[in-house]
Amino acid sequence: MDIPISRLKGIGKKRSDEFKKLNINLVSDLAEFYPRTYEDRTVSKTISQFEDDHTYTFPAYIASEPKLSHVNGKALVNARINDGTGSVYVTWFNQQYLKNSLHKGDGFLFTGKVQKRGSRISMASPEREPLPPEDELYEPKILPIYHLSGSLTQRIMRTAVKTVLDNKLCTFTEFIPSAVRKKYNLCEKNFAVQNIHFPDNENSLGTSRYRLIFEEFFLIQVLLTMIRLLSGKANSGIVFEDTETEDFVSSLPFSLTNSQAKTVEDIKGDFSSGKLTNRLIQGDVGSGKTVIAQIAAYMAYKNGYQTALMAPTEILAQQHFESFTEIFNPLGISCILLTGSSTTKEKELIYQKIASGEADIIIGTHAIIQEKTVFSNLGLVISDEQHRFGVKQRKSLSQKGKNVHTLIMTATPIPRTLALMIYGDMDISSMTDMPPGRKTVKTYCVNSTYRKRFFEFIRKNAASGGQTYIICPLIEDSENSNLQSVNAYIETAKKALSPYNVEAVHGKMTASEKNRIMEDFALGKIDVLVSTTVIEVGINVPNATIMVIENAEKFGLSQLHQLRGRVGRGEKDSYCILVTDSQSEISGKRMEIMKKSSDGFEIAEKDLSLRGPGDFFGTSQHGLPKFKLADIYRDIEILKLAKTAAEEILKKDFYLKNEENLNLLDKIEKIHDTLRLDI
Ligand code: ADP
Ligand code: MG
Repeated sequence: MDIPISRLKGIGKKRSDEFKKLNINLVSDLAEFYPRTYEDRTVSKTISQFEDDHTYTFPAYIASEPKLSHVNGKALVNARINDGTGSVYVTWFNQQYLKNSLHKGDGFLFTGKVQKRGSRISMASPEREPLPPEDELYEPKILPIYHLSGSLTQRIMRTAVKTVLDNKLCTFTEFIPSAVRKKYNLCEKNFAVQNIHFPDNENSLGTSRYRLIFEEFFLIQVLLTMIRLLSGKANSGIVFEDTETEDFVSSLPFSLTNSQAKTVEDIKGDFSSGKLTNRLIQGDVGSGKTVIAQIAAYMAYKNGYQTALMAPTEILAQQHFESFTEIFNPLGISCILLTGSSTTKEKELIYQKIASGEADIIIGTHAIIQEKTVFSNLGLVISDEQHRFGVKQRKSLSQKGKNVHTLIMTATPIPRTLALMIYGDMDISSMTDMPPGRKTVKTYCVNSTYRKRFFEFIRKNAASGGQTYIICPLIEDSENSNLQSVNAYIETAKKALSPYNVEAVHGKMTASEKNRIMEDFALGKIDVLVSTTVIEVGINVPNATIMVIENAEKFGLSQLHQLRGRVGRGEKDSYCILVTDSQSEISGKRMEIMKKSSDGFEIAEKDLSLRGPGDFFGTSQHGLPKFKLADIYRDIEILKLAKTAAEEILKKDFYLKNEENLNLLDKIEKIHDTLRLDI
């Protein structure tokens, strides 16, 4: 039974609304509202021992009568507080009333963050609580510090949580089976909840944190692993008896890189295993994923199966069609292109060829599988360049055909750590090395005062037949930002670059308009393309050698890298110009990484550590829940263990039917329902 928190003593309507803002409605929400940090009173510090940038909770007296002043229209109340060992200069902002409610001599328990300049210690808007009784004050304790909202204080939070825990208003059913707990040294759930709030000591805090972080990873891993194994179990995969590809590979104009060879081996293993393949192939732009798709399609063909290759855009499908035809036509393997722009009549004919088995490899956008295409003998589905592809979409893909193997190729490499988490339902091949002789794109970072100069550079490039992309973050100018927009920029660029042909493309255009512009650009009819990030995915124009990115600070590193990957695809030297007027330190660091590194995996790893996993790689973007305590980046070692534990338990009891796993099953079902995965 779960009790609404408004039933707790001291929590009325107004206060429970404040709790609601923190997503706390029930007593159990409160119990699982973990502290954001702690105040360690076991090593209680006096003012004389304070260190810069640390947060302390400490008893002190107001030592000077508070003074009110106004700066830039803001009310400031200043006072000095003292604990007998030293003083802190305190400023409260916009709390004018404090001038009259605080008085010299009043004692409080203050909580605040120290700013130390030389020997002067100051503190901005510290929290106040009445002084607790003397004996309690000096009792050594680790005190929780919570995120707050509105008029809530640490004291209110602590009291509420303590009421719940002390009166056992909420007890949790242990759902991690005891064998797992034993093996991975996990403490019991209720102990963990108790001690994450009010730890007896460092040790019990550590143990509890560990358990709760493990739990968060473990639950997701059990779910994802179940999805992965379930698709393999429900439909055991077609076995491709003949996975010999030596003849095909040796006919290629190059030899495979180590990563390519390794990935081909992975796929051969999948295809011959009798299990359903569900593999993610991640490799930087240019790492040579297309040939992997070709080899896989070749294997399917040899075993009498059709392959469907799906690209995110028509242009990309067209490009694939060309390169596949070139390779496969001489071998008598027939490729067919199915796009939205084919006429109804053409489509009829195409469908017929697919249904009759005359077509061996079918290439198109995702529509080929969404429409009611009837295949004669589909054995393999390959999805190219599909990044940000949630659990749900992956699921629907592999359900399209019975026993159909699935390969997903992505050019947005993510660190292995994160892949483990997000793609826990898939096997993964990472292509980390590049084909030889790849030129790196020379990358520069400039501010907007250089615009005139790089326009001159673009002009020279156009004069010698080279093409340029210019990326702006917005489509139209917006009142509340001064970011560059395609519609405004195109005017400037047309003037500055006349008589060269400058065109714009963005997401608000119709698909056919976009296609036309992209095609003209690919054909070299357009010299400079001003665009939003719509061109991010896949397009290959080897003659484009300059990539300008305006407001570069607005893009994630991986996205910048992805955009940069649009150039440097031909023989000529290529350049990437990152334009930013941002002065922020973090932006400077990020631009520095872009200048130094051309390795998508490394960039992704750095991006993650600079931005924290909340942003670009947000698990919620991938259809996974947010974590309360766990941090994929920081807690990677725990993630790995949790993944192993999940696999172990499912190996023994796949459907979690055994007595000791029933509570876990219950929990997994709940998460599954909240994620609405439809499986
Ligand atoms: P991706 O799809 O991973 O971005 P592509 O498959 O388009 O990359 O390959 C980029 C270019 O590299 C293509 O021109 C391709 O022919 C070439 N390539 C692929 N593998 C190799 C290799 N092992 N050696 C030399 N060139 C290669
Ligand atoms: Mg590709």
